[in-house]
Amino acid sequence: MAQRKGRRLLLVPLPLQGHINPMLQLAQILYTKGFSITIIHPSFNSPNPSNYPHFNFSCIEDEFVLTESSDLLSFLIELNAKCVEPFKECVGKLLQSDDAWEEPVACLISDAICHFTQGVAHSLQLPRLVLRTSGVSSFVAFAAYPLFRQRGYIPTQDCKLEEEVEELPPLRVKDLPLVKTEEPEKYYELLHNFVKETKGSLGVIWNSFEELESPALTKLGKEFSIPMFPIGPFHKYFPSSSSSSSLISQDQTSITWLDTHKHNSVVYVSFGSLAAMTETEFLEIAWGLANSKHPFLCVVRPGLIKGSEWLEALPSGFVENLEGRGLFVKWAPQLEVLAHSAVGAFWTHNGWNSTMESICEGVPMICMPFFTDQKVNARYVSHVWRVGLQLDERIERGEIERSIRRLMDPNVEGKEIRDRALKLKEEAKICLQQGGSSSSSLEDLLTYILSFTFETS
Ligand code: UDP
Repeated sequence: MAQRKGRRLLLVPLPLQGHINPMLQLAQILYTKGFSITIIHPSFNSPNPSNYPHFNFSCIEDEFVLTESSDLLSFLIELNAKCVEPFKECVGKLLQSDDAWEEPVACLISDAICHFTQGVAHSLQLPRLVLRTSGVSSFVAFAAYPLFRQRGYIPTQDCKLEEEVEELPPLRVKDLPLVKTEEPEKYYELLHNFVKETKGSLGVIWNSFEELESPALTKLGKEFSIPMFPIGPFHKYFPSSSSSSSLISQDQTSITWLDTHKHNSVVYVSFGSLAAMTETEFLEIAWGLANSKHPFLCVVRPGLIKGSEWLEALPSGFVENLEGRGLFVKWAPQLEVLAHSAVGAFWTHNGWNSTMESICEGVPMICMPFFTDQKVNARYVSHVWRVGLQLDERIERGEIERSIRRLMDPNVEGKEIRDRALKLKEEAKICLQQGGSSSSSLEDLLTYILSFTFETS
């Protein structure tokens, strides 16, 4: 633990699991480097303060929720509109408090998607950095969306989906970070604000590392005249059992079950905290797993299967017939699962946290992206870093079974993918060591934060 710096940081996570985790990990990293931390968050999906007794938490009241029936795009637009005033009031109070006189605030670090924080920070003359919780390569694609519109790639047309995007190889039109929406203009407006206010910040912190995304970092560095701090992988600064920011309780039987399995024998399946599918798609997944004959640990989050509570869609006797070869849980301790020696492959939706967590453990991936940056991440996993296979969009049991076998059965292709995954794991480890790229970038970030001369007026 570094000496206390006598400066406080205000951190603003986006209230979704895949954004809360990296923001709280960043908070932990900056705390161990001597900064005091205040987390400002809405009451929806609020993190549990008792897991972080060394941080202050400030809650802003809100009335929005994200349910199975509401859509992500409307949620993000609403959040950015409704948080402005309560956030401004909250930060204003914090800056005027006795604590702020004793321990001045150095800056605000906001999730990049909370673009509303830029206007507030500007009006208070508070320095603002952003944390982009996904990869740099997908951000390059987000930032290029006006060009994609000009070139006619978006809105996407079915006949063009397989076309290569000339400006950003190896992406195809179908890999562009889009969402299915009836209101594409609203999505473009959100992207516009998100990119503009990231550019308007004083710098971007990435949960990524130089060796993984060097071309994208170089490209973005030229387009944005602000410093970039790739200091990831965040979760590797601490042991995987350290405080959890999980919003759902993690089923520890996952680990005891894995303990009974051989090295590299299990397929771990999880599609993160937001993806949803039909019952029919889920049944294809379940049969594909069962028919592969490989043991599997499958996370079925409540809400994953549209219209189902949990596993009702499975035919009766399905689980019993697996004879212990498969375990379904509602939520797993994913970091520990991926680090477990029994796990031989990760069938993932390629959310950025899951992608990084898999890379860090050298676990090859089966990629099945659903929307936005997941599509770019999946393409990079399968065609740039080449540490996984991408499934066809149509979820079909035969293809699932074949893909699992391609990765898990002894064969040249599976071995080559596994070898590359292990090599990448090594790189992810080295970048955090003294003198490594992320470790140096973190030192630069600390110096940069201490150079801010913000004074409460
Ligand atoms: N996660 C978990 N248990 C699970 C599934 C996921 O703890 O059963 C965690 C996972 O480790 C990751 C986060 O939830 O940190 C999901 O983030 P990601 O960016 O992969 O996907 P999102 O949920 O944003 O789609």
